[in-house]
Amino acid sequence: MKNQKRTIISVEVSARHIHLSQKDLEKLFGQKYKLNKLRDLSQKGEFASKETVSLASRVKGFIDKVRVLGPVRKETQVELAQTDVIKLGIEAPLAVSGDLQKVKPVLEVRGPKGKIMAKAIVAKRHVHCSPAEAKKIGLKNGQKVKIEIMGERGLVFDNVVVRVAPKMVMSCHIDTDEANAAGLGKICGVGKLISS
Ligand SMILES: [Zn+2]
Repeated sequence: MKNQKRTIISVEVSARHIHLSQKDLEKLFGQKYKLNKLRDLSQKGEFASKETVSLASRVKGFIDKVRVLGPVRKETQVELAQTDVIKLGIEAPLAVSGDLQKVKPVLEVRGPKGKIMAKAIVAKRHVHCSPAEAKKIGLKNGQKVKIEIMGERGLVFDNVVVRVAPKMVMSCHIDTDEANAAGLGKICGVGKLISS
């Protein structure tokens, strides 16, 4: 355990959600549609919208009321917990958000005005930070760190990917399966970032 640095970090729980391209947003909600903000998320400019969609698998299962996150992105992407993947009987790789080249569209997404086929992933747990924060702690983009969660069901998450970009705010994002396993609250908690 020599030479390890520990930094207290906020840990946020991402429930299943979808990011949409403008083109797919219009297919689902109508021409020239714009998302309506429900609340801001911790990362600047990112928000939960009032809009939700449903997900239908061709294999089995159906999930209703999946939150659309804004703003619109270059490519549509569904982010699920592994429990959802099992429920839907689909294949969704563990991937860094936005890394979709090898992912096949396997889910039917239904909105009030239409439907699309979309790619789904289980997002790799990650830490966001700005270049200034990264420098202060000595982190590099793409580096993997550990996040220790304290408490009765406390555990250490390994292979947490560091994502450095301007405007990012330091926080760790895990999914609902990971949060439940660690006994964390529904929305957020605190962890220790361990880097060497
Ligand atoms: Zn994130």
